[in-house]
Amino acid sequence: MPEGDTIFRTARALGRALTGKLITGFRSTYPLLTRFNDDTPLMGQTVEQVESRGKWLLIHFSGGGTLATHMLMSGSWHIYRPRERWQQPRMNMRIVIENSEYCAVGFRVPVAKMLKPQELARATGIPPPAIDVLSEQFDWAEVSRRLLACADEQVADVLLHQEVMAGVGNVFKSEVCFVTGINPFSKVASLERSQVTALVVESQRLVAANVLEDSGDTIVTYSGRRRRTTHESDPGASLWVYGRDGEPCRRCGERVHRRIQGPDARVTFWCQRCQPMSDGSIVDG
Ligand SMILES: [Zn+2]
Repeated sequence: MPEGDTIFRTARALGRALTGKLITGFRSTYPLLTRFNDDTPLMGQTVEQVESRGKWLLIHFSGGGTLATHMLMSGSWHIYRPRERWQQPRMNMRIVIENSEYCAVGFRVPVAKMLKPQELARATGIPPPAIDVLSEQFDWAEVSRRLLACADEQVADVLLHQEVMAGVGNVFKSEVCFVTGINPFSKVASLERSQVTALVVESQRLVAANVLEDSGDTIVTYSGRRRRTTHESDPGASLWVYGRDGEPCRRCGERVHRRIQGPDARVTFWCQRCQPMSDGSIVDG
């Protein structure tokens, strides 16, 4: 699944291609989108803003509508010049938005809905900007409050809750726990207040540090980009613990552990020496 930083980059690239420009064409294979377009034609409107909210990508139109798409495992947005050859078969096309310079194509986008402003405000599942780690409106106090409300859950699981904080995927979950020295299997209730703050601050810092500028007119794909959470430039040395089970911890040399965690059975990596449980117990890995 693409992580929040990938969706953020996609939103940036789509924003550069679409924002402020007159829409010259709109097509979709989804009946609800075409019906919306029949009632309130997008042709002649402009795109006012493209933003990411966690794993959602929102395209706001000047007529007041917002196209909300979620990529899940399969979807992607590509940007092409007119007449440029598409990198995916036509049958994978779900949505096309065109202006005089660019053609944005949503391929195999599994979730797409057109929302009016009041519907967007009410839409459950689309995180508000205040809890999106990559939003300028990110509010760490609000996120800390939401995190503390999950007192009985384990820290690493809560970092994945998109309704607590949006944008931290499974890779950064382990990395944030390592950087803050917090054991991923600790209950939220066992954390000191300063540790809660550190989790939120480091989540934002690490995810933001991985967002790099893309050139504006190239094709955006989901082919795995290298993530960087350490300060080293060697690609193999780019993560602290994620994917490194059995290898020595970069801080203490102890073996990095791996274990399946949580209701969704996601993999977690950690160092037992650098990330002790506050009660001294040991989680096997
Ligand atoms: Zn260590």
